[in-house]
Amino acid sequence: MNHPKSMVAEILILAVSGGVGASLALQLAEHGVGIAAIVCAVCAVVAAGVALAAQVGQGLRTTVYTCPAKGCRVSIRAAGTSPEELQRLRDLATDHSKHGSAR
Ligand SMILES: [Zn+2]
Repeated sequence: MNHPKSMVAEILILAVSGGVGASLALQLAEHGVGIAAIVCAVCAVVAAGVALAAQVGQGLRTTVYTCPAKGCRVSIRAAGTSPEELQRLRDLATDHSKHGSAR
C-alpha cells in the first residue's frame, strides 16, 4: 500500500458506482425491463465508475512541480518515483536558473 489516499478514493468511487448500478438494476427490474437491457445499463454505469476511479487514482498519484518564474511555463509531472528523485525533480522545476534560458 504505497498510496493509501489514491487507493481509498478509487475504492470509494468503485463502491459508489457499484451501488448506483445495483439500485439502477432494481429500478429497471421493477419496471419490467428485460434482463439484457438491465445488464447493458449496469455495465455502462460500472464501466464509467472504473474509468473515473482510474483517472482520479492516477491524478492523486501524480505530483506536479511548476516553475514560479513569471512567463516560464516549465512544469514537471512525476509518478511512481522515489522521494529522493521527487526532491531532485522539484529542485529542477522550481529553480528557474536550473532550466531557464541563459539570456
Ligand atoms: Zn522556469
